Amino acid sequence: MNIIAEGHSKIIYATDNPDRILVYFKDTATAFHNIKRAKIVGKGLYVNKISAIIFKHLTDAGIKNHYLNLVDERSMMCLKTDVLPLRVIVRNSAAGSLSSRFGIKEGSSLSEPIYEMNYKSEQLDNPFMNEHIAVALGVVTHKEMQTISQIAHNANEVLTTVFNKCGISLIDFKLEFGRMPDGTLIIADEISPDTCRLIDKNTGIHLDKDRFRHDMGDIISAYNTVCSRLYDE
Ligand code: 5GP
Repeated sequence: MNIIAEGHSKIIYATDNPDRILVYFKDTATAFHNIKRAKIVGKGLYVNKISAIIFKHLTDAGIKNHYLNLVDERSMMCLKTDVLPLRVIVRNSAAGSLSSRFGIKEGSSLSEPIYEMNYKSEQLDNPFMNEHIAVALGVVTHKEMQTISQIAHNANEVLTTVFNKCGISLIDFKLEFGRMPDGTLIIADEISPDTCRLIDKNTGIHLDKDRFRHDMGDIISAYNTVCSRLYDE
C-alpha cells in the first residue's frame, strides 16, 4: 500500500477506495517536540483500540469523525479528509502547559472548560492561535470556527461522561479537524491516552502519556487499564 504520510506515531496509507485511508499506529512515543523519543512495545495496539471505541462513542452521540472501522489490531479504516493545520486543546482542569504558562498548580479546578487553539506546525513549535489569526491566515472561516467550537464543546461533554463512567477524570485533550469535500467539518487524527490527560479517580495516578513524558513507568499497564475500562463499561 502507498504511504500518504508518516508521523511520529502513525502511518497513513492510501486504500483502493479514494475516499478512505488506513491509519496504522506505531509503537513510537515522542515528547517535548520530539526531543524525547522511545519505542514502547504494544502502545500502537492500545492507541488503535482506544481511539476506535472513543470515536464510536462520538458517532453514537452524533459527533462526526473520520473513524469507520477497525481493520486489525494496529489499524483502522477512516474517511479521507483534508486535515486543517489547527489543533484545539480542551481543558477541564489545570495541567501541563497551562499550569506552566500561568503558574497554576496541576490539578487546580477551572470555573469553566478552556478551549485553546494552536497552529499545527512542529517547525514553529505549534504557536498559539485564536479565531482572528485562523481566519486572517485562511485556515478557517468565522462560521467554520463556530462549528469547531461547538464540536469541541460537544465532544468534551461526551468524553467526560464516558470517562467518568470508567472512574477516570478527563483533565484535557487535543482535537484535530478535517474538512470533507462538501465542507463538513469532522474530528480527525486519534483520541487516546497519547492525546488526552486521564487520571484515575480513586488512585489519582496518570493513565496517559505523562507517564512517558515524566518517566513515571508502567505506560503499557496504564493504557491497558484505560482500554479495559472503556470496553468493560
Ligand atoms: P499541554 O498543552 O498541556 O502540553 O497539552 C494539553 C493536552 O493536549 C494534553 O492532553 C496533551 O496530551 C495534548 N497535546 C497537546 N499537544 C500535543 C502533541 O503535540 N501531541 C500529542 N500527542 N498530544 C498533545
